[in-house]
Amino acid sequence: MTFQEIKDQDQQYIMRTYGRVDVALVKGQNARAWDAEGKEYIDFTSGIGVNCLGYGDPQWAAAVAAQAGEIQHLCNYYYSPQNTALAQELCQAAGMAQAFFCNSGAEANECAIKIARKYGEKRGAHRILTLVNSFHGRTLTTLAATGQEGFHKDFLPLTEGFLYAPAGDLREVDRQMDGTVCAVLIEGVQGEGGVVPMDPEFVQGLRKLCDERDVLLMMDEVQTGVGRTGYFYSYQGYGIVPDVATSAKGLAGGLPIGACLVGEKLRNILKPGQQGSTFGGNPVVCAGAREVVRRVREPEFLAAVQEKGRYLTEKLEALPQVEFVRGRGMMLGVKLKSGDAHEVLLECAKAGLLVLTAKELIRFLPPLTITQEELDQGLDIFAHVLKTI
Ligand SMILES: *Cc1c(COP(=O)(O)O)cnc(C)c1O
Repeated sequence: MTFQEIKDQDQQYIMRTYGRVDVALVKGQNARAWDAEGKEYIDFTSGIGVNCLGYGDPQWAAAVAAQAGEIQHLCNYYYSPQNTALAQELCQAAGMAQAFFCNSGAEANECAIKIARKYGEKRGAHRILTLVNSFHGRTLTTLAATGQEGFHKDFLPLTEGFLYAPAGDLREVDRQMDGTVCAVLIEGVQGEGGVVPMDPEFVQGLRKLCDERDVLLMMDEVQTGVGRTGYFYSYQGYGIVPDVATSAKGLAGGLPIGACLVGEKLRNILKPGQQGSTFGGNPVVCAGAREVVRRVREPEFLAAVQEKGRYLTEKLEALPQVEFVRGRGMMLGVKLKSGDAHEVLLECAKAGLLVLTAKELIRFLPPLTITQEELDQGLDIFAHVLKTI
């Protein structure tokens, strides 16, 4: 099929919920990808932080294929060794006690919200505090958790019981955290909100406040998780342990998964029948996730992510058109002195570099396994594009 045929088919048969870029990828290898016409791209998106081991990682593909040839799915009536092994490995990497598996970030957050409601139920605390400018998903409840008015309109009424405080404002959180609040839900670095890292003092202050008020601290690690910030989970970089952590995007290296992790205090909080998912914990997906967790949790792997993040930041800051770079690890946002971020994204694609945007920033989420050569090639294309706009 030619690109035009693919595009026509998409426009006729797929709901127009995405503003797409004129690129159709058919093959990839680590941070390189090729489109239907054979043009090569450097990929600084990894599918919004999903393909953390890059495209077509041979060990990951072998683990997934081997499991697909054994048992591709089994229902949650039965024990699954891939499922239980992943839960143990993930809990150990995260410093948590138990996992619930589902299929997406929004679902993982739905589970966290149900846990919070159940935790607060006995004392009549049902409200959940999130941050202004946050993003937690597209279901009606996670939209309510999302502290951005723009996502709410057209879909009202949303699930009730959410409060919003500005990121970094501990006093405002304190003021709003009355006896009706059962949990606080935050991202370690706001992703969709414009790659906004939290101050360590804010996160540590929240931990303390939550402990004092018997309120759960829940970290949405859907975008920041699984090595993205140079720590397995971003809270490990902030030196705290949350009561609940949610994970998805990169967790299975490109297959659909979500996980809601809880600490010891919440062990067995949900009882049989109180949460479930047909596909959750699927053995093929778990086999892929185990390969990801096995590699990403290694200290050398995480140190390399931090090093590549520093290198990228340094090179980007040296470009004359760049106003600032912010983020953690290989989750970076670039603010330009002038020019529209989306236009730059389109120009980059034409020039063979795939990037994302987040609000008015260009966002880079390269595969964690990106090589020096791929990084430099992408940086060269980016510098060239900035000169032409
Ligand atoms: C992407 C994202 C979600 C939603 O994940 P889906 O898998 O698209 O449902 C939730 N929270 C954060 C922080 C995200 O970046």
